[in-house]
Amino acid sequence: MARRIGDERDRAWVSRAIELLLADRADEPPTPLRAFPLAGPPGAALYLKDESRRPTGSLKHGPARDLLLDALRAGEIGPGTALFEATSGNMAVAQAHFARLLGLPYTAVVPGRTGTAKRRRIEAQGGLCHPFDPPLAVYGKARSLAEEAGGHCVDHLERVGDAVDWSGPTSLGAQILSDTENAGEPAPAWIVMGVGSGATSAAVGRYLRMRGVGTKLAVVDPENSAYFAGWAADFPGYTTGMPSRIEGIGRPRMEPAFDPSVIDLVIPVPDVASVAAMRHLHAITGLMAGPSSGSCLWGAFQVLDRMRREDVRGPVVMVVGDGGEAYRDTYYDDSWTEAKGWRLHGPLSDMEHFTATGAWSGARPGEPGRDDGS
Ligand SMILES: *Cc1c(COP(=O)(O)O)cnc(C)c1O
Repeated sequence: MARRIGDERDRAWVSRAIELLLADRADEPPTPLRAFPLAGPPGAALYLKDESRRPTGSLKHGPARDLLLDALRAGEIGPGTALFEATSGNMAVAQAHFARLLGLPYTAVVPGRTGTAKRRRIEAQGGLCHPFDPPLAVYGKARSLAEEAGGHCVDHLERVGDAVDWSGPTSLGAQILSDTENAGEPAPAWIVMGVGSGATSAAVGRYLRMRGVGTKLAVVDPENSAYFAGWAADFPGYTTGMPSRIEGIGRPRMEPAFDPSVIDLVIPVPDVASVAAMRHLHAITGLMAGPSSGSCLWGAFQVLDRMRREDVRGPVVMVVGDGGEAYRDTYYDDSWTEAKGWRLHGPLSDMEHFTATGAWSGARPGEPGRDDGS
């Protein structure tokens, strides 16, 4: 356990650190809402809430700040406390940023195979990377390093659900509702987003219910992830034991922050569709986003197709979780995707057709009744 924050000097530092993070939260400008140009009937437009424009490039920016706020308030972080976390992704980049803001050393325990581009993003924020194998042992390693150093393991997968500010005026749910209002639209019919820890979707879902708007919440789930099957079977203990191939989303188990009670729909998305959709998003909007945004675009198209057939009105908002720069040599590289066996052509042409005409010509997974004549 981290040492307790005792003397007066320490307490003064802690309250200044809390003030600093709260001011940082209040001063952060809202991210843009952009329209996706989609053909088809009016009244069912698609918008992108672009969280890649946050200061550290992803939707993890707020949750990382909230996790440190929570630990400061609990007396787990004081002046000089070394911070540790087990992840190589966006959460490490954002946590390193806030550790540096507070003047604290930060170490991300990352799987040994983590590429240099990903390590450099953490190091550019002043963080250190500690490679460790096997990949699933990074969690225990981060905890034991924190213990040895008398530091603090942030442990976002366990703690982010309780830490996230879901109800404040700068929360993602609040921003999406005011963005759509400012765009002259009614409240969204649907919001579509990804699930990693589950904290972001839980926060948005709780906000929607608090406000009493009719907006429904759909989350997309990649191959190998536990959320779709676990949600469909209403079995929280469901595990796959397999890592997701879509960076940022999908987990081998349902994480504690995931809140199925505020999720209206979980949409399984084939990995090849996520990657094709990420390319399509770039081709149509010029926005270079990560693969989880591709999953969201694919899911949003399924939702819009269904709304149009059922004559449901209202905008759909999907969340762009991160930018694509970090994925230039992977998901944006044809030889890399070919080596994975992903043939992008089929799903790409389905999406091109939908964007250009507003009519879905591809398969409709999850609606087997169409094919068996029932
Ligand atoms: C973390 C992440 C998500 C999912 O957010 P959670 O709050 O962890 O569920 C989605 N997209 C990207 C790019 C992410 O980094």
